[in-house]
Amino acid sequence: MNKKQTGDFCIFCGRTENQVDLLVHSELGLGCVCSDCAELLNQMIKETRHKKAVKETENYTLKTPSEIKAYLDQYVIGQDRAKKVLSVAVYNHFKRLKYFHSNRKKDDVEIDKSNIIMVGETGTGKTLLAKTIARLLDVPFCIADATVLTEAGYVGEDVETILTRLLQAADYDVEKAKRGIVFIDEIDKIARKSDNPSITRDVSGEGVQQALLKLLEGTIVNVPPQGGRKHPDQKYIQVDTRNILFIAAGAFDGIERKISARLNSNAIGYSAREVRGKIDKDNLLQYIQPQDLKSYGLIPELIGRFPVLTHLDRLDKDALKRILTEPKNSLVKQYKKLFAMDNVELEFEPKALDYFVSLASEYKLGARGLKGIIETVVMDLMFSAPDDKTARQITITAKYAKEQISKHGDKLFSSKR
Ligand code: ADP
Repeated sequence: MNKKQTGDFCIFCGRTENQVDLLVHSELGLGCVCSDCAELLNQMIKETRHKKAVKETENYTLKTPSEIKAYLDQYVIGQDRAKKVLSVAVYNHFKRLKYFHSNRKKDDVEIDKSNIIMVGETGTGKTLLAKTIARLLDVPFCIADATVLTEAGYVGEDVETILTRLLQAADYDVEKAKRGIVFIDEIDKIARKSDNPSITRDVSGEGVQQALLKLLEGTIVNVPPQGGRKHPDQKYIQVDTRNILFIAAGAFDGIERKISARLNSNAIGYSAREVRGKIDKDNLLQYIQPQDLKSYGLIPELIGRFPVLTHLDRLDKDALKRILTEPKNSLVKQYKKLFAMDNVELEFEPKALDYFVSLASEYKLGARGLKGIIETVVMDLMFSAPDDKTARQITITAKYAKEQISKHGDKLFSSKR
């Protein structure tokens, strides 16, 4: 604040220093503004931002579920059911947003949020699906890891920090963040540890589930702008979570046993044998129902806030092979591009690709493991390629791949053996 000068007045309302509470002077000596006008301006900025965001939503051309799925198909192999379910949920979410901002009457029907929960083994494409959707929709998107969350007051992160990440992804534009997508990974890790919640305090399990409820149901949450633990002197940013879409995901290791137990107990009596005969035992996840999540240790209130439940299929060899080459940014395409920058036209012998797939499948490394395998195989070539400036072609044969893996592949499999 500059030195006060007599005769200073607010350039907005014209009042002089002794007529107002506070007069703030421009650092450059360009004039003053009084505290009342500053507050009013702040309010006006907020309202203008809100109106802009509403207008953007109204003008948003909704992508239909089939358009959303077609986009997902370019990046994610298989997982047809999950893609369909997600596409419809996201489409409905945006319809709901439009409706929310339209001039609806007070007594009009309220459309509920359709938060989604995805169950599937690790590395089957859950995060990839959520990321791809966020890219298509051009809304702020963040990934939060449920394992680091603890109940307020305990070591770990408060659940509100999830929204700090969303705010960061939205460059602190609250209006944008309010329509963003939050992906909560490893939701299964906050399952209740025991069936009897009263034995000990379960600060990283049920406590966190309880804390998440208020975020999910849609309230105004005080978010610490820099994350970390909340403390009383901190300034918060208020975020309304009513229109944030939450997508949770988890591997839920061992949930097949719960599903199978339920299916078997349901199939007692009339035509039981017939029902049992029709069950595909190799893919029990497809029969998952909310009650299985409850048996696993999620509290019913939390399950209730994720009305859309879907599963991801295990990736078989065929899917792994397709993942290598088909997606728009497939691994093979990525490595070809990297080598092309060094004047090398890189090719993979089909048998080499089969070898990568059989390794990933044999050692249960999944799609995530494919990258490590290729990286190990082409490492020596990536090291030497930039030294030779002439244009040339290099083909990775199965023989070469096997040699490289037997020399340098130990680390890939050490944790899996
Ligand atoms: P998770 O199910 O554990 O969230 P991710 O989505 O993170 O798995 O998958 C890890 C990586 O494996 C992705 O970045 C992607 O490269 C690959 N991947 C996994 N599943 C698929 C799939 N269905 N289609 C294409 N790539 C996949």
